[in-house]
Amino acid sequence: MDRYSIDHHKMHMHPERLAAWLKGEPVAPIYLEVSPSGQCNCRCRFCGMDFLGYRKRMWDAELLKDRVAHMGRLGLKSIMYAGEGEPFTHPELAGIIEHTAASGVDVAITTNAILMTEAQSERVLGNCCWIKASVNAGSPDVYGYVHGVAPEKYREVIHNLERAAAVRAREGYRCTLGMQMILLPQNAHEATTLAATARDAGMDYLVIKPYSQHPLSGNCEYDGLTYSDMRSLAEELQAMNTEHFNIVFRWETMARLEQPERAYSHCLGLPFAGYIDTDGNMWGCLAYVTDERFLFGNIRDENPEDVFWGPRRTEALRWAAERLDTGECRVNCRLEAVNSYLWQLRHPSHHVNFI
Ligand code: SF4
Ligand code: SF4
Repeated sequence: MDRYSIDHHKMHMHPERLAAWLKGEPVAPIYLEVSPSGQCNCRCRFCGMDFLGYRKRMWDAELLKDRVAHMGRLGLKSIMYAGEGEPFTHPELAGIIEHTAASGVDVAITTNAILMTEAQSERVLGNCCWIKASVNAGSPDVYGYVHGVAPEKYREVIHNLERAAAVRAREGYRCTLGMQMILLPQNAHEATTLAATARDAGMDYLVIKPYSQHPLSGNCEYDGLTYSDMRSLAEELQAMNTEHFNIVFRWETMARLEQPERAYSHCLGLPFAGYIDTDGNMWGCLAYVTDERFLFGNIRDENPEDVFWGPRRTEALRWAAERLDTGECRVNCRLEAVNSYLWQLRHPSHHVNFI
């Protein structure tokens, strides 16, 4: 069961934005991924952002707050702080999150949780819709190997997440807390151990997802990995679901690795999402960062409305929707389910009226 619709999309929950798009009107993104900091305290073997070099650069907090509020007024509904580095390496992340939520923009964080101390949880949990921790092992040794850090960090991370769950319970916050594991040859045998650890730590869910090769990443160790022999593991994990703890084993996403034909030929989802890096560049797609065809403008140096409604974004969206060959795109990209849905809307079968 996928209680949080992690393996699906939520586009149908935005009918007004969809209607505007179907009429050909320009639309603001609903969701953005934003990198507050380029630094990272891990060196994960599977990291797809390695090619950006984990640079020591970060957003000026006041400027980012200003831009987030501005984008919220233009129609942006949510931000996930993640991207090319670890969000908690930004010393003012908690203040940025507080301001994002106060601006009416929903907030989430994807983090390795090494720096997510109890004090940080106390500051961010009340303002976040969800926090997902990337924890790719069930023991210190495998954790150290996969994340490229000292093995002791494993216990620190689990402790941080236990404390986060305790803070949430104590304060009555609604923030959903989860873990995510990318299934690799080195950690598959620890998936059930991690599931038990996540459940006992008070997490709401554990996502088990496949590796997906970023086209620009220098980490190619797992390129071509498939999962058809993982059915018994999936069944074992499903048996660990409880009333309060949900395992999301992403079978459909795993199956697509072996049947990479897409249900869509071009990319229709870019008007509704995007990525902003630590330099303020707004990209249409995280998988094509550094490719100028996907660069819409710079949110730091320009007015957000000039980027949202400007000719660069307008032209890039048209090109992606009409000419981009998605057969060349990253398999299982962030907008896979969104694109499949939008393609159906634009290319309805002749049975659609038989509701
Ligand atoms: S924590 Fe994230 S950004 Fe950092 S190395 Fe790991 S995958 Fe990459
Ligand atoms: S990778 Fe996905 S989101 Fe990016 S352009 Fe291709 S289809 Fe669109």
